Amino acid sequence: MANDRVFNFSAGPSMLPLEVLQRAGAEITNYGGSGMSVMEMSHRSKIFLKIFDETQEKFRKLLGVPEGYKVLFLQGGGTMQFGMIPLNLIGKTGQADYAVTGHFANLAMKEAKKYGQVTIAASSEDRKHVYIPAQEQLKLNPDASYFYYCSNNTIEGTQWQYVPETGSVPLACDMSSDILSRPVDVSKFGLIFAGAQKNLAPAGLTIVIIREDLAGQELPITPAIMNYKSMIDKDSMYNTPPCWCIYMLGLMCDWLEQQGGAAGMEKINQKKAQMLYDVLDNAKLFTVSAEKGSRSHMNVTFRSASEEMDAKFVAESVKAGFTNLKGHRSVGGMRASIYNAMPTEGVEKLCDFIQKFDKEN
Ligand SMILES: *Cc1c(COP(=O)(O)O)cnc(C)c1O
Repeated sequence: MANDRVFNFSAGPSMLPLEVLQRAGAEITNYGGSGMSVMEMSHRSKIFLKIFDETQEKFRKLLGVPEGYKVLFLQGGGTMQFGMIPLNLIGKTGQADYAVTGHFANLAMKEAKKYGQVTIAASSEDRKHVYIPAQEQLKLNPDASYFYYCSNNTIEGTQWQYVPETGSVPLACDMSSDILSRPVDVSKFGLIFAGAQKNLAPAGLTIVIIREDLAGQELPITPAIMNYKSMIDKDSMYNTPPCWCIYMLGLMCDWLEQQGGAAGMEKINQKKAQMLYDVLDNAKLFTVSAEKGSRSHMNVTFRSASEEMDAKFVAESVKAGFTNLKGHRSVGGMRASIYNAMPTEGVEKLCDFIQKFDKEN
């Protein structure tokens, strides 16, 4: 890495690959001989539409999006989807199932309650969200319009290691913090969404992958900007899309392709996570927050026996050249977010630091 860069373990917005930033930097004042930045282009111009279409194509290829699904590039963050999903999908039967496995799934569930009858199909609240419920534990309502879950719980550090089986009830999944970190079979889902700022691009872009037949059943109160059908009909350009973020996603897609796509990325991510969990499991000072079998490959949450020791660890980590290792304010402890762009070298350095700290304290 360029030696003025820090190893940034931020949960989001998160680090981007240096090569991607350098390419964006090189093109920032004059993209492709146009004499302007992508930030300055009309979203309807030929030159931008080419970026848009190519990014769509690259993204579809990387994730393996089949025919019959539309990829939307929207704004509003993951949070807007918490409202947009029920507004558009709950109308079918008026009911929806939610698996509440963490902070963001809980927010989504609360939002959905405004628009229909919500059943908690599963919850891990009994043990502070340190595990993912098993398939047998899901209480499925066959009349649900959809089953909602969050595949990676960014704050708690847990990740679904299976795709729930829900019969004919479509799955709606928040993949904000693990999209393209591993392969997924998109055909098993009705809808996937992800705020881009964890694993893919700068903040401001939200990607929605929707099975087209699910759109068009929105509640009458649905704001135009939150209507999947209008966004599908206008190819994400009902209003101005987040142009520069879409361009950045395109650069990131090229980089992901070089890493071997989703399958290649999964191998790298598995190795990084395993390395870190091994060091933490063998340390005398630290315990991993998430239970084995539910541990996230993206957000590694851990803590020592006391808040004082946690604070000491965080303070010394900053001096050692790491940033953002403090856990989310709602759970405390530490969190190392090791998304796609975190190089293996960064995790190795962190492992060395943890071992040294463990010996000296
Ligand atoms: C960060 C995050 C969100 C919220 O995203 P915003 O873009 O801030 O609205 C939602 N879900 C998950 C899993 C996240 O990690």
